[in-house]
Amino acid sequence: TAVKNIAILGSTGSIGTQTLEVIKDNPGLFRAFMLTAHSNAELLIKQALEFVPRYVIICDESKYQQIKEALSHLPVTVLAGYESIKEMVTLPDIHIVLTAMVGFAGLEPTINAIKAGKDIALANKETLVVAGELVTTLAKENKVNILPVDSEHSAIFQCLAGEHHNTIEKIILTASGGPFRGKTRDFLTTVKREHALKHPNWVMGAKITIDSASLMNKGLEVIEAKWLFGLESNQIEVIVHPQSIIHSMVQFEDGSIKAQMGLPDMKLPIQYALTYPGRVKNKFKRFNFTDHPNLTFEKADIQTFRNLGLAFTALDKGGNMPCIINAANEIAVAAFLNNQTTFLAMSDIIETCMHKIDYIKNPSLNDYLNTDKETRIFAQNLIKQMPLKALQ
Ligand code: NDP
Ligand code: MG
Repeated sequence: TAVKNIAILGSTGSIGTQTLEVIKDNPGLFRAFMLTAHSNAELLIKQALEFVPRYVIICDESKYQQIKEALSHLPVTVLAGYESIKEMVTLPDIHIVLTAMVGFAGLEPTINAIKAGKDIALANKETLVVAGELVTTLAKENKVNILPVDSEHSAIFQCLAGEHHNTIEKIILTASGGPFRGKTRDFLTTVKREHALKHPNWVMGAKITIDSASLMNKGLEVIEAKWLFGLESNQIEVIVHPQSIIHSMVQFEDGSIKAQMGLPDMKLPIQYALTYPGRVKNKFKRFNFTDHPNLTFEKADIQTFRNLGLAFTALDKGGNMPCIINAANEIAVAAFLNNQTTFLAMSDIIETCMHKIDYIKNPSLNDYLNTDKETRIFAQNLIKQMPLKALQ
């Protein structure tokens, strides 16, 4: 079989670097064909020197010269700007586009890649949260696969292999509960970024780590699952499983439940997305049942972690509502990381945006772009107006 050319959008991030490790382990199967980053020129150069991709793209144009000079002795084309990413993902030589950039920025490159017939290995869940209907419809029209990288969705995807869609009763998404599992709202009034950034089971980028602490990550994953697997919101259940060994489950109409299990390691779902429908051997650490004699389960606390409930509300409202919560959340998380808002205020910001931004029932791509922009401006102003005392 021919080597698959992979374009990694966000190669310098947590998922991006782990994708490069998978590619390195399987040189006969994959080639890192295109690497992109936002502004981390040092790491992008280091990766390009090691993997010699055909293209390297940096969003931050001020870093272009530095990268160009560092790679001048190699057959690597260096480009700069977000527009270049949007354009170059359509190149005929690319087989799979792995979307590992963070946030709304993933949407347009993904849409262009789908229109160009590329299979998508999707880590950037925000793309499906914002515009799930549009993206999945385009994928069908262009006969491309959207292969989940998110561990829960990869688990469900693996459980569904060989099954008929109409026999699914429900899916059960597992959540670790994050660093604040079991905490009260009172406790959460004082938590700061350094507490929220300590995830018990996974090392990930900053944005998704905060989302995990607030349970917004699970909310985004509920919406992602709806679109990936064509489900109604009452077919999606969330359960807290602090050990993160069962990555998610599917219950079928006869009551049978299938689970996918393993140690928490994103390299497995990344590899499966790239080798699908096949599997390949690897040396990842194996799970041993007797090392984990206690797998436990509990209800998610949506009174304390309000974002999960807000995400279900947005899913039921549909239209541009998930786009609104995504944009509001991106701004709230950035503000929390900058100590400009509090942990609990993030839910208030999202809820206010859900009420104040104009609802659109059947949004076009342009509507999504406008909703995203409007919501960001509104949320930013809201944060500025919130009394700082309430934030301490
Ligand atoms: P990171 O923050 O670690 O990495 C983000 C990557 O995207 C970096 O390469 C960054 O470049 C680039 N990037 C950031 N913003 C932009 C932008 N506006 N335009 C273009 N490129 C950009 O994130 P993660 O790897 O943790 O997450 C990536 C995606 O995968 C997210 O959507 C997340 O929800 C999802 N995901 C992550 C998991 C994980 O374990 N980390 C698990 C499941 C899903 P630079 O380095 O230059 O800033
Ligand atoms: Mg996940």
